[in-house]
Amino acid sequence: MDPSIKHSFAMTSRYNTHYPERCGEALDEALYSTEAYDTWRPLDPGRASPVFSRLAALPALTKQELRASGPQGFVPHGRDIAEGLGEREIELVATSGATGDQVTNVWYQPWWNASEAASWQLNAYARAVTTGVHREAILTSPWCAGFPCEEGYLTMEQRTLGRFLFLSERSDPSSWSGDLMDRMVKELNAFEPVVLEANPSFLARLSRHIVRRRQHVHSPALIVLTYENPSVLHRRQIHRVFDAPIASSYGATEAGYVFMECEAGRLHQVTATCHVDFLPFAAEHGGPDVGRILVTIFGNPWRSLVRFDIGDVVRLDGLTPCSCGRREGLTLMSVEGRTVNLTLSPEGRAVTQGSIDRALGSIAGLVEYQILQTDPSAYHFRFAAEGAAPGPVANEARDALRAVYGPEAVITADRVESMAPDPPGKYCLSKRLVPIDPDVLLDGQFAPSEL
Ligand SMILES: [Zn+2]
Repeated sequence: MDPSIKHSFAMTSRYNTHYPERCGEALDEALYSTEAYDTWRPLDPGRASPVFSRLAALPALTKQELRASGPQGFVPHGRDIAEGLGEREIELVATSGATGDQVTNVWYQPWWNASEAASWQLNAYARAVTTGVHREAILTSPWCAGFPCEEGYLTMEQRTLGRFLFLSERSDPSSWSGDLMDRMVKELNAFEPVVLEANPSFLARLSRHIVRRRQHVHSPALIVLTYENPSVLHRRQIHRVFDAPIASSYGATEAGYVFMECEAGRLHQVTATCHVDFLPFAAEHGGPDVGRILVTIFGNPWRSLVRFDIGDVVRLDGLTPCSCGRREGLTLMSVEGRTVNLTLSPEGRAVTQGSIDRALGSIAGLVEYQILQTDPSAYHFRFAAEGAAPGPVANEARDALRAVYGPEAVITADRVESMAPDPPGKYCLSKRLVPIDPDVLLDGQFAPSEL
């Protein structure tokens, strides 16, 4: 077998009849009408090849390249950003990543809305209750969406924008006062949102407060978890308070809505607005069910994005087809966290944040945690406990972590009062002091080409 020939996992998925054509249009627009892809063109095996093979022959698009070419480099057909801004058709939006990680994106609201509406079709509850004019409360870092105010407080009116109510102007839930959380409960009861969209760790923090104070809170018709990957612990804490169905929505500022959790608990690809290339890890690192994803978007006149490395690790669903009946595109068991959340076992096997989270998920009294791998066989476990003695929680967690990392793992534990998110407001559940190069984990047959 020629090792330079790359394989495409998409060959094994089911799509509607127009889907390959849409992929082809997105690819041709990038290669032949968008400046940033000029250097990719020689790698294209050509239009006579199946589109999934053409995509597989190309590199991955990284955030560094998005920064290097700038937003104009990804606008197809010579459209001009300055004109679009002048006519108020588009805006420029910087992603909320750490400073060195920021990307400026062209924001074209009609495409974003279409991508969101397509994602709603993949969950029966969302399809039933989202009208596009429904009331929505949002609980996330105000630096991601809303109105930040870290000193003093804003009125409800100042945090309302049309049909949206932003529940918090503060970005660090570990410093929320009891009064602030009481206010959130009062506002949820008064506003009665149809959908509550929340950062799961933020809503979990509020849920624990509601349980402690035995408060009553309005349950929306649907809770959508987004902005960060929900932990089993967060979902459990939210479930104790809200009886609404919960759906996890997965996407990125750069790429729109990519996966949506269905009513049966699996994540389905938003095939109306994007294609996803799955790059399995090598067998010793959890492949072929675990791997990374590259996203190609369809139909955004202001943005050509092909094989964008969104930076996350996913686990495919072995149980196909999903019991909800949806058949198209990739179906995931879970999003397993970001590549920066990967750790290694002492023998060098990749361990995803999802694997750690499932192992710790049933420990009673554990409410927050973070694992830091400091050495090839040393792991530091910080945790917050509520309603349980810290000693037994730490012991149970050490046992659970040894089951994941193996008997050679040396695990130290420290109890903390609470845990603060990383800026701009996302919790990190696991990481390695020296991050892993995620390229070395891939099955070489699927690895992106180098330029
Ligand atoms: Zn399903």
